[in-house]
Amino acid sequence: AQAYQKIWEPLLKGKFKQHAQIVSMRWFWARIFKRTPKLVYYEGGFSEFTRDLEKAFIEKGGKILYGQSVEQIIQTENGVTVLIAEQENKSFDKIIATTPPHIFAKQVTNLPDDYREKLLTNKGLSAYTLVLSLTHPLMQNTYWLSVNDESWPFLAVVEHTNFVDKKNYGNEHIVYIGDYVDQNDPILSKSKDEIVDAFIPFLKKINPLVSRESVTRSFLFSVQYAQPIFTCGYQQTIPSIQTPLSNILYANMSQVYPWDRGTNYAIELGITCANSI
Ligand SMILES: Cc1cc2nc3c(=O)[nH]c(=O)nc-3n(C[C@H](O)[C@H](O)[C@H](O)COP(=O)(O)OP(=O)(O)OC[C@H]3O[C@@H](n4cnc5c(N)ncnc54)[C@H](O)[C@@H]3O)c2cc1C
Repeated sequence: AQAYQKIWEPLLKGKFKQHAQIVSMRWFWARIFKRTPKLVYYEGGFSEFTRDLEKAFIEKGGKILYGQSVEQIIQTENGVTVLIAEQENKSFDKIIATTPPHIFAKQVTNLPDDYREKLLTNKGLSAYTLVLSLTHPLMQNTYWLSVNDESWPFLAVVEHTNFVDKKNYGNEHIVYIGDYVDQNDPILSKSKDEIVDAFIPFLKKINPLVSRESVTRSFLFSVQYAQPIFTCGYQQTIPSIQTPLSNILYANMSQVYPWDRGTNYAIELGITCANSI
C-alpha cells in the first residue's frame, strides 16, 4: 500500500488529475506490465522517423497532402467523398480516418447513433511539452524525472541529452517538461515565455544554477487529444476499425486499450487496418 501511495497514486493523479478516480485499473495494470527498463530511440528522433515513413510511402506511389483540414466525410454509393477546407472535394474507394474520436464524430455524416455514441463517450486529455535548450546540464545522470508533488505545475522533466549524446544537438543541453491537462486548461492559452518564466523557479529547485539566462532557446508544443481517459468498462465503448459505413475505416489511439497509446501500437493498428481492406 505504501508503494502505491508514494509512487503510483501521485503519478496517476498527476496525469489524470480530477479524473484519476475513474481510470480503469486494467489500463493501469497494462501500463506497468508492459514497462521495460530498455529504451529505444530512433536516430534523429520522431521527425526523422516520419520523414523515413514519408519517403517509403512516396516511393510506393503514395501521395501526401499536408496542412489540410478535413471537414466532412461522406459515404457515397461507390466510395467516399471527402470535403477539405478551401479545396476541391476528393473522392476515394475507401478511406481510413485517423482523427481523434470527437473530431471523427463530427466529420462523418450518416454515422449510426450507436457508433457515434461510442466516439463521443471517448474523452481525452490534452498535453503540452516545453522544450528548453540550456547552457548547462539540469540534472546529473537522470534522464526522466517524474514529479510526485502536486504543488508543482508539471508532471515530468526529461533531460534528453542524458540519454542521447548532446553532440547530436550542437552540444546544447536539451530538456523537455510536460504535463497532461484538461482540454480547456488555461495553460494551453499561455505564451511560451509566460510558461518558461513560471517554470524557472521550479527548475531552480532541481538545480540552483538555473536562471532565465540558462535558457538559450525554447519551443512549446501542445495537442488537444493526447491521452484517452480509459474508464471502467471502456472495452465496451471502443469504436471498431470497420465503421458501420462499409467504405470508411477508423484507426486511432482510442482503440489500443488496455495498452497505453504509443507509436508501436499506432503502427500495429495501421497494419491491421490495411490488412482488413
Ligand atoms: C507528450 C507525449 C509523449 C509521447 N511520447 C511517446 C514516446 O516516447 N513513444 C511512443 O511510442 N509514443 C509516445 N507518445 C504517444 C504517441 O504520440 C501516440 O500514441 C500516437 O501519436 C498516436 O497516433 P494516432 O494516429 O492515434 O493519433 P495522432 O498522432 O494524434 O494523430 C491524429 C492526427 O489527426 C490530425 N487531425 C485532427 N483533426 C484533423 C482534421 N480536421 N483534418 C485532418 N487531420 C486532422 C491531427 O493533426 C493529428 O496529426 C507520446 C504522446 C504524447 C502526447
